[in-house]
Amino acid sequence: MNEKKKLVSLIVPCYNEEEALPIFYRETVKVLEGMDVDYELLIVDDGSKDRTYEVALELAEKDDHVKYISFSRNFGKEAAMYAGFCNAKGDYVAVMDADLQDPPSLLPQMYAILEEGKYDSVATRRVTRKGESKVRSFFAKLFYKIINMISDADVVDGARDFRLMRREMVDAIVSIGEYNRFSKGIFGWVGFRTYWLPFENVERVAGKTKWSFWGLVKYAISGIINFSEFPLDVASGFGILMTIISFVMLVFIIVRKLLFGDPVAGWASTMCVIIFIGGIQLLCLGIMGQYIGKTYMETKNRPQYIVARSNITKKKEE
Ligand code: UDP
Ligand code: MG
Repeated sequence: MNEKKKLVSLIVPCYNEEEALPIFYRETVKVLEGMDVDYELLIVDDGSKDRTYEVALELAEKDDHVKYISFSRNFGKEAAMYAGFCNAKGDYVAVMDADLQDPPSLLPQMYAILEEGKYDSVATRRVTRKGESKVRSFFAKLFYKIINMISDADVVDGARDFRLMRREMVDAIVSIGEYNRFSKGIFGWVGFRTYWLPFENVERVAGKTKWSFWGLVKYAISGIINFSEFPLDVASGFGILMTIISFVMLVFIIVRKLLFGDPVAGWASTMCVIIFIGGIQLLCLGIMGQYIGKTYMETKNRPQYIVARSNITKKKEE
């Protein structure tokens, strides 16, 4: 029984990575061959518009370790990771970016830590943000502060999606079939004992980042909405506060009228109050709208991704 080598599945979400993928393949296989394991590389082509699919196909033709799933269109990295988790057969499973920003050289160490048996997952964390713009780093830090303060997601600053997990944890993640996915939160939410491995940021080897600044902002907001009801509490809080203030003002105005008559004054202040309250109402409606929107998408129960082509035969469906 002990003779059997462990199977390690590496999930590689790829969107327009024709340049990076061959380099990734070369470097990662080098590391894996040096380890005493069986392995599979699960390339998830997330509806790429370049030759990523052809590259994956070529790799699969010459190497049996390579499996691929190709989506019918771009569904996003979250969907690509989920497809990977659903189809990975490994005892140990990890997600790795195709741009080598998740150094494969860490794999032997991660594997060794899991083999000791004390931990269920080994996660990686960038301790530097070298090569990233100052503004982006600032907002990233702010996001981690906020989400940890107001949700039970437990997201570590600088945490990558790159983590090697035991089967049990992967099954737990697959069992969370929600449509609006925020994996950084899900990893923390499912629990399990996690070892954090710090490393220095690496810049991508080829191609360019798929994330625009606004893309990241939207991702951050949906992360917060997915894991916290705090914004709803804020909205209700505003409502209660406004009710109390308006009640006090009402009493004040009535008393003043009874005591001093009705000197007309204060058009400007009246307008200010109207606009202020109008603004807050719209803000709160917007917050509620965000949650209703998410609920709407969730109730539709659409699949997270649609597979156009794949060389995986026996699927472990969600
Ligand atoms: N990715 C994906 N689908 C997308 C966007 C990105 O599968 O819609 C993949 C991408 O190919 C890469 C990984 O997700 O392997 C991380 O993307 P990227 O390197 O652009 O993000 P960054 O490292 O800049 O945050
Ligand atoms: Mg990257």
